[in-house]
Amino acid sequence: MICKFVRMAAASACAGLGVISCASGHASSSGVSRGSAAAPVAVLTTISTFNSFVSAVGGTRVRVESLVPVGVSPEDYQPTPADIARLHGAQLLVENGLGLEAWLARTIENAGNPNLRVLVASDGLPTKGGNPHLWMDPELARGYVRAIRDALAKIDPADRDLFAKNAQAYDRQLLALEREIAKQIATIPPASRTMIVFHNAWQYYDDRFGLRTLGVIELAPGQEPNPSYVADLVRLARANHVRAVFAEPEYSPKLIQTLAESAGIKTIEDLYDDSIGTNPRVHDYPSMLRYDTGVIVKALGGR
Ligand SMILES: [Zn+2]
Repeated sequence: MICKFVRMAAASACAGLGVISCASGHASSSGVSRGSAAAPVAVLTTISTFNSFVSAVGGTRVRVESLVPVGVSPEDYQPTPADIARLHGAQLLVENGLGLEAWLARTIENAGNPNLRVLVASDGLPTKGGNPHLWMDPELARGYVRAIRDALAKIDPADRDLFAKNAQAYDRQLLALEREIAKQIATIPPASRTMIVFHNAWQYYDDRFGLRTLGVIELAPGQEPNPSYVADLVRLARANHVRAVFAEPEYSPKLIQTLAESAGIKTIEDLYDDSIGTNPRVHDYPSMLRYDTGVIVKALGGR
């Protein structure tokens, strides 16, 4: 399904190019700077976490919305007719790929928008076992930003320099964010740098910052673990003196509460990864990672 989708995305991208250059040419013939005269590029992302990247690079030259609403999991999302209509009117779709949005290929097909350029943001980045959550590592998020910069420049070449400048500034922010997180994680006692998580969104973040993803409750979207698997996780948690089990607000807390009770550890139910939060403290990518890091550091005994 993924291979088919990537091929389709490439075809859409080529189809988009002709129309895009035509639109830009029209704007420049008016004699007004294309940067200010043309309408902003209509961008859709699959998840709200990516909106930060698009806004940071595109500034006022883009209009961005996510298909999956804030607080909803992209892995089991059911697209709506309104999503098809939005895709029909969009110029660029930024998706993650690697199976995060299994519902998307059909939705794009249904939208029938030959001008839609599709960017698979994880393309070309180093993946681990097919885990799609690359953006949770700010180092890899820099790759998403570069890909978005290039995609926007193809759609709106008149603003290429602006996109490049914005992307460079945001890249510096991501580097600073990475250093800041590393410093905070370093305050966690080394023996406690271990997480059991609800779904495996933390692998890239954990690997970057020297944490260990010891266990994952839900191995595949929507797949409830059987009791013996949960019992194994409890044993693992006890044997490794794990301090907490972590989940996102979009999932039912029942399983992590059961596990935490059996293992005698605490539950953290407000980590954000696939979606930013309705909590104003978690309104974009940097604030999301700062918030998450604060929660993790506190739960694992750091400062
Ligand atoms: Zn996820």
